Amino acid sequence: MVSRTALAALVLLLGAAAAHGAVTDYSCPSSCKNTLGCVCASTQPPGGIANGDVPQFIVLTNDDAITVISQPMILNITERHSNKNGCKMPATWFVSVDYTDPNLVKQVFVRGHEIATHTVNHLANPNVTQIVGAKKWLAETAGIPADKIQGFRAPFLVFSPEQRDILAENGFGWDSSISEQYPSTISPSAAERVWPYTMDYGIPQNCAVSTGNCSTSERHPGLWEFPMWNVQDATGTVVASMDPQGDPYELYKLQFDQRYSGNRAPLGIYLHAAWLIADPSRADRLNEFLAYAVQQPNTFLVTVSQVLDWMKNPVPASQYSPTCPSAEELLRLLPQGTALCVMPNEGCDYGTFDSSECKCMCQNEEINAAGYCRDAAGRCTVQKDYDFVGKTYFCPSAAAAPAPAGSTPAAGGADAGQTPAVDTAAQPLTVEMDVTGTTPADFTATKADAVCAQLLRLTGDSEATCTVVHAVSVTGRRLLQDKVHVTVEIETKNADATVKALQTDTIYTLLTPTGITVVPGTVKAALGAPVVPTPATDAGAAPAGEVSEPDIRPPAGTTDATSSDGSSNIGLIVGAVCGAVALVAVGVIAFVMVRRRRARAATELHGSMRTSSYNPTFRAPAAGVTATVTTSRSPTKKQLQQMEAAVSESPLRDSMVGMPRQQQQ
Ligand SMILES: [Zn+2]
Repeated sequence: MVSRTALAALVLLLGAAAAHGAVTDYSCPSSCKNTLGCVCASTQPPGGIANGDVPQFIVLTNDDAITVISQPMILNITERHSNKNGCKMPATWFVSVDYTDPNLVKQVFVRGHEIATHTVNHLANPNVTQIVGAKKWLAETAGIPADKIQGFRAPFLVFSPEQRDILAENGFGWDSSISEQYPSTISPSAAERVWPYTMDYGIPQNCAVSTGNCSTSERHPGLWEFPMWNVQDATGTVVASMDPQGDPYELYKLQFDQRYSGNRAPLGIYLHAAWLIADPSRADRLNEFLAYAVQQPNTFLVTVSQVLDWMKNPVPASQYSPTCPSAEELLRLLPQGTALCVMPNEGCDYGTFDSSECKCMCQNEEINAAGYCRDAAGRCTVQKDYDFVGKTYFCPSAAAAPAPAGSTPAAGGADAGQTPAVDTAAQPLTVEMDVTGTTPADFTATKADAVCAQLLRLTGDSEATCTVVHAVSVTGRRLLQDKVHVTVEIETKNADATVKALQTDTIYTLLTPTGITVVPGTVKAALGAPVVPTPATDAGAAPAGEVSEPDIRPPAGTTDATSSDGSSNIGLIVGAVCGAVALVAVGVIAFVMVRRRRARAATELHGSMRTSSYNPTFRAPAAGVTATVTTSRSPTKKQLQQMEAAVSESPLRDSMVGMPRQQQQ
């Protein structure tokens, strides 16, 4: 017999479900107990603790590669805050292997942070190789103990039951990919959001509002879901699940206060380092929020796993204290011989940190390629010079000279005594990359807009402009599998910040939804206008279908630079030290390198020549996009030589961040 109260409750429940179009068939029995490793999805914190004595947990997570750029951005937040017991604020890092420096992973680990996985190549719908491969890499290459790698987040937050099967079968403890927002059947209000739960009886979240599949009929005993509670404004409107637009202080204070006076569901701050890079004021406002929050009684800054550990064994906040092993203790968990040293506060811009040597290794310092040299303080801030006659990159002699007593070189290599100019004018920024999944014609006609839209987002500058100036086949093939070399010019006030953002794997993440794939390691960003051959006429004004002549003039700076004396100095030193035998060897190697480079440049140019020959129906590019279509007529030998010089001598070609010196202010 059904009681009147139960019937009324059922009607209410059905009404709520209908209103929110949400899950109605979640059923979790009372036999599910946290002492048995099972926790039902609920707005009630575990352990029957009164709301006022429930710990208010705050968890900060960072996604994607740990690089010399992303790591200090996050540490710049966490290092500033501590729990009341002195434990420093940790973060949970969802690491994708591509672009990640394993030394930086070690450093994060010995500082007490949590390492979780985010696949090898940051692919949507990852298979077991992608998911387990990332854990294996973190354990074997970065040396993180495998049993400490418990968590997973799906790239692009595209989750599925199959992924959760893989997690359960491969020793993972938890997932954190499913967005949750109120009102829903399990999160009725801002003050009553669902707590993390185990998926023994399926997933009761409304996955229709997310980018993945889930159901109440899935069974993953003991595997936790740590929801991605959406950031919602005062009216309840969803702002974002990650990287919210708006004032971080106001947004997170609102999320915090609603929870703190409510059921104290954990607060998740889900970030990408690029969000901080795009607008430096965000770090300041986030720091202000954290300083406010940690002062509130019973508030703790912890990792995802620390929250789940508490849920497995809940105690009142008055009896809770987060643990934080010392760096020495954590170091003992890493492979023998790992040094206990951390990256300098200023980071290792334009280099990587070698934690066995405890020093910054400047980018390409030791080889003949564009890169950076040390300043007097030992930091990699001095850009290499290029000798156009000897075709060598070299460290300017000033780079190694000791700084005058009392002076400190400013970041970026500017003179210490000089007052840096405040420049709010838009600067040109050239971005080059190789992409697959398109052809030059397809890219120019259909993909350029989407790519520009994503790049403009990255600048964080509403007045920035973006132009695709060049899209050529790398090998001249016509297949979609071919690589296309794309050159984009952006004008933005935030050019420096955008260059930095492009050094993380942000662009990789950003561009995948456009349907093309960026070839890893080919993204190059540099201040200054592009130096690729451009048409003599204004291509933007060219009518549809018209094929314009390529401009075969060498780039600005090529002829002026022949007066550089860098190569003759280098020649003398090499000669004195190594003698005639070494000189002969160097000569042979240089000859081969020049021949190879020329052959490569010629191949690329011939490839671009073919572009229009298989593109008879070239469509006019979309508004705001300038396209270059090169002619199919063969160039003269002289033209080819000049174009070859233009391509092979572009300082962009060999460097991730090779900024042409002549274009620096
Ligand atoms: Zn990601």
